Amino acid sequence: MLILHCPHCDRMVDETDLHAGGEAHVKRFGPGSEAEEFENYLFMRENPKGVHFERWRHVYGCGKWFLAARNTATLEVYGTYSAQTTEPPQAIRDAISAKQPGWSWGTFQ
Ligand SMILES: [Zn+2]
Repeated sequence: MLILHCPHCDRMVDETDLHAGGEAHVKRFGPGSEAEEFENYLFMRENPKGVHFERWRHVYGCGKWFLAARNTATLEVYGTYSAQTTEPPQAIRDAISAKQPGWSWGTFQ
């Protein structure tokens, strides 16, 4: 079972208290953008076997959204952080690098 730390209410919660929100750090494109950019925003998502950044909502708790960095192959969780951040905190990147040297995800390394 997947267990994540909710950074808002500082509790360890299992996946039955959470709702998955898909990929984190999706760059949004609005009116005036190129059709291909908007299409990619709507439909193209990462689906890696390994390091992944995801959105989660503590739906049966505080109700707030947060982001998680985890490994989809091993279910290892590298850390969780506020959904109001635009990129993963350096501490989480360092934790990933310690376990997965040379990792990359989108523009993050
Ligand atoms: Zn919470």
